[in-house]
Amino acid sequence: MDQFDSNDGELMLNGMTLSSLKLRAGQTPYYAYDRSVINKTIQQFRAQMPARLKLHYAIKANPMPALVDFIAPLVDGLDVASGNELNVALNSSIDTRMISFAGPGKRPKELAMAIASGTTINLESFTELNRVISLSEKFGITANVAVRVNPDFELKSSGMKMGGGSQQFGIDAENVPLLLEKIKSSNLDYQGLHIFTGSQNLNPESIQQAHKNTFELATRLSEQTQTSIKKLNIGGGLGIPYFPGEKRLELNSIAEALEQHINQFEKQFGSCHIAMELGRFLVGEAGVYVTEITDIKESRGTLFVIIDGGLHHHLSASGNFGQVIRKNYPVAVGNKMSDDNLFTTQVVGPLCTPLDILANKYSLPECDIGDLIVIYQSGAYGYSASPRDFLNHPQPIEMLV
Ligand SMILES: *Cc1c(COP(=O)(O)O)cnc(C)c1O
Repeated sequence: MDQFDSNDGELMLNGMTLSSLKLRAGQTPYYAYDRSVINKTIQQFRAQMPARLKLHYAIKANPMPALVDFIAPLVDGLDVASGNELNVALNSSIDTRMISFAGPGKRPKELAMAIASGTTINLESFTELNRVISLSEKFGITANVAVRVNPDFELKSSGMKMGGGSQQFGIDAENVPLLLEKIKSSNLDYQGLHIFTGSQNLNPESIQQAHKNTFELATRLSEQTQTSIKKLNIGGGLGIPYFPGEKRLELNSIAEALEQHINQFEKQFGSCHIAMELGRFLVGEAGVYVTEITDIKESRGTLFVIIDGGLHHHLSASGNFGQVIRKNYPVAVGNKMSDDNLFTTQVVGPLCTPLDILANKYSLPECDIGDLIVIYQSGAYGYSASPRDFLNHPQPIEMLV
């Protein structure tokens, strides 16, 4: 994992060794997120992508308030998916008009928060439209709305599909013209369209195809209904490498094609806030989950290393968060980075369930009690996506370093 250096056999984050971070945390397990890696990822993305493409951070990937505050000045918008995430976004330095709120089943209270704060509400149903119209009238505030479209195409080779076919997300493309007519005749301020097709994609061709389809759909819907458009959120879905054989996504061809789509679209509709919303791509590689070995034992020829954290802190690394076949996240012994005499090892957590595996048949240096087991690619969908009360072990600490 070349995003981090090591010193004297010990992994470092932003110049600090894992053992000094353990002292700072006061404990293991901990999550640490490296500011310099987040910053570099964002600067590289900006350098490669068309200058006019805006970048949003999808808070769902990692909602830690300090991290959101750190990212806010580096991006052009924040995308939230709950009232509490909205609160975190509003507390950051981001321009309130650059926050958008998506997600099915937004409660009236959450819609009210969004209306009162000037957030753009990405409408996901006709019920939601009616609620926003009546709340907006009640408060005497013009609400900003966009329409989340469930497209009539799919994102191929995506880790998680969230568009195409029948979905709980968005409004089916064929019903969008009717919704737009209703918005036009209402008291709402129409911002534009949101088209999100899926997540964790490492295939540039399928991402390019999805972008082509997205711009075609946005063009068709805007022409059909003769609506002007201020914002177009083209989704994201850029993946990061987790498993053996996966490589970092090559952005060049995606960027070139996007440049043309943006030119074409702005020629037809005028200047527009065209944004990509990214979660894991911006923060996933910047984070590690660090645990300590509490016991080591052998059972009928298999070497078990037992750590003080597990599935309850890091559901995704245990393979129980949307993986069909369990695969290992990248793992290392963080205080033995230059040790290359390797043994096949099972790394397991302390929970009384056989699902609590952090690394299955993994080649690791010889382990000792007290060594630090590190799980990489843990900056997104780690801490906040885990059932931390299950079995009631101590909670992990989160640090931005
Ligand atoms: C989850 C989600 C994202 C972020 O997905 P990543 O894979 O983390 O980039 C972006 N937009 C929407 C609408 C989402 O639901």
